[in-house]
Amino acid sequence: MTTNAESAQRPIIRPDLLAALEDGGHRITKPRLSVIDRLSRKKGGFKADDICDELPGVGRATVFRTIKLLLDADVICKLTLPDGTPMYSAALVHHHHHTICVKCFRIGEFRHATIERLLRALERELPGDIIGHRIEIFTLCGECEETR
Ligand SMILES: [Zn+2]
Ligand SMILES: [Zn+2]
Ligand SMILES: [Zn+2]
Repeated sequence: MTTNAESAQRPIIRPDLLAALEDGGHRITKPRLSVIDRLSRKKGGFKADDICDELPGVGRATVFRTIKLLLDADVICKLTLPDGTPMYSAALVHHHHHTICVKCFRIGEFRHATIERLLRALERELPGDIIGHRIEIFTLCGECEETR
C-alpha cells in the first residue's frame, strides 16, 4: 500500500539496525521499520526531531523509543554538539570516536591506537575502573572551510 511519497521510495533497511531490534526481542512494526529506513539513509548526524519531521505519520514517542532501542544495542551513537544539542549517527564500526563538523554536521568515525593506549595508561592513575569513554572532536570539514 502506498500512501505517500515516503513509502513510494524503495525502502533501505540496514541489516545491522534491523538485527539489533530482533536480537533484543523487540517487535518489528511498520512504524519502527520506517524509522530504520530513515536512519539507514542518513550520511551524517541527525537529530531525533529531523526523523519526526520526515515521518509525519509516525508518532514522536515511537521515533524516540526506536532510537533509544538502537542506542542501547550500540548500533547508533549519541553525540553532543558544543551547544549541548543531542545528535545521533548510525555506527559503522564497533568502538570508535567522532569528528563532527559544527556547520554541516558531517560525522566522521575514527579509531586511534594511541588514544586507546593513553586511556589504558590513565586507568592506572585514576581512582576506580574506567568502564567506557567518549571522544568527540569538533571540526570545520573541508567543504565548509572552503565556503567560509
Ligand atoms: Zn558513531
Ligand atoms: Zn561541514
Ligand atoms: Zn576509544
